[in-house]
Amino acid sequence: MQTETKYIFVTGGVMSGLGKGVVSSSVAKLLQLSNQKVSCVKIDPYLNYDAGTMNPTAHGEVFVTDDGGECDMDIGNYERFLNQSVSRTHNITTAQIYSSVIEAERRGEYLGACVQIIPHVTDAIKDRIRSIARTENLDVLVVECGGTVGDIESLPFLEALRQMRLEEGTNNVIFIHVTLAPSLDVVGEQKTKPTQHSVQELRKIGIQPDLMAVRCSRSLETSAKRKISLFSNVSEKDVFSCHDSKSILMVPQMLYDQGIIDVIFKKFGKIGLVNTSANWDRWNTIVDSFANLKDQIRIAMVGKYVKLTDSYVSVNDALKHAGAKIGKNVTIDWIDSEELNGSVDKLSQYNGIIVPGGFGERGAEGIIKTANFAREKNIPYLGICFGFQLAAVAFGRHVCGLTNANSTEINPNTENPVIDLLPEQKFIENKGGSLRLGANEIRVESNTLGFKIYKSNTISKRHRHRYEFNQKYLEIFNAKGLTFSGHSDNKKRMEILEIPSHKFYLGVQFHPEFSSRPGYPEESFEAFIRAASA
Ligand code: GLN
Repeated sequence: MQTETKYIFVTGGVMSGLGKGVVSSSVAKLLQLSNQKVSCVKIDPYLNYDAGTMNPTAHGEVFVTDDGGECDMDIGNYERFLNQSVSRTHNITTAQIYSSVIEAERRGEYLGACVQIIPHVTDAIKDRIRSIARTENLDVLVVECGGTVGDIESLPFLEALRQMRLEEGTNNVIFIHVTLAPSLDVVGEQKTKPTQHSVQELRKIGIQPDLMAVRCSRSLETSAKRKISLFSNVSEKDVFSCHDSKSILMVPQMLYDQGIIDVIFKKFGKIGLVNTSANWDRWNTIVDSFANLKDQIRIAMVGKYVKLTDSYVSVNDALKHAGAKIGKNVTIDWIDSEELNGSVDKLSQYNGIIVPGGFGERGAEGIIKTANFAREKNIPYLGICFGFQLAAVAFGRHVCGLTNANSTEINPNTENPVIDLLPEQKFIENKGGSLRLGANEIRVESNTLGFKIYKSNTISKRHRHRYEFNQKYLEIFNAKGLTFSGHSDNKKRMEILEIPSHKFYLGVQFHPEFSSRPGYPEESFEAFIRAASA
């Protein structure tokens, strides 16, 4: 039977980067723990069709879904919090909505009408949201609207959400507004004026928030809460403190302790919760596993986009998941590969070296040196995508004697193109959405490190690349001691490389980080961290 879905719309005020994604994921987590079938959607009001063409140092990592969506990094947070994979349809952008409207207009579907933002664009937004709720048969759908109230781009989306409250009924829709209460120094008074203004902005466009989630460095004071309640017309018990915490995984508990789940259930008129203590026990065990970790495993992450740690958020998280699983504290030093063009000796102080994904020529030589150094010094190495490709380049140059071996992405005229364009990519002109994307099946050879890690001959992993290992060089690599233990498409592509004589040297053409979850680290990360701690 079709469930009647309830909606929670999360908006943001004052400034970006407040952690709306964490609030949305945490609320969804609490509902999931309460046995609700729940999922999250992220609206990104920018004009890009998807996040694929955006620079990770400005916007954070591009998160890839099983079905090949290049999404905003919040989608990764949803997957990790809820331990469930979501479809690319869960990331909605302005470009997607407008192109669907323009295509419908060209097909003549509007029957002579003048096509307008209201109702045509807002209808397209509502249809998209409702179709997710319907096809997934959800009890509750949490929809996070990116950007800040007052942005021109978000207006059609907020208008669509406002209309949904009218159409679905007030019992079925909750608005949560996330704002900031800054204090000018550590002990100073928490200021509520920015929050007041942001609520006014929201009310101007017809949205009265039901709940307020207020970011602050320490717990929201009663006086600040009272003021926010008064000025935003939200009762005091519906104003929630989202103060800094050691880990984002602790935010669900923080909100629960303030009674958010009762408030939500009451507003939705839901009653008769079944016993959920088993869910909580499982979740608490996971959250607790991140506290009180012993020892320190020092990992060097050598990459191109290290200036913003959000550019590799899934890799960082996957390393932490692996550490927590074995009770060890993983510390990560982000090292700009461009700074390693000279000496890489400083890498010898680390227990393990990881090279995440990347694109283009800048900083590539530093990565090739890094991969070679890890091999020579027997330091555990995990190379992901670009890190797989450049490990092959390093091996080609230094072990196989292939002069100037390279990837044609870095040097299109190299004498030895050990990494080359995927054949089907040769005639592609558009950059957006045209890489090899999403989950593909991989065959893992028995009696290899790959098999030891995955304990299976078939795995499915997410991809995002345009280049791959050039099989012309397969024989010489094998002869010199490098094994390709995983492949796909009937051995058309190499997916896993390893050096059996090394302590732990693994390169993967896919992105294992996207399927790592708290409590359930992705297998290659766990194996890497175990090797680094040995
Ligand atoms: N730039 C490389 C490619 O396109 C690697 C991509 C990646 O690391 N995600 O194949």
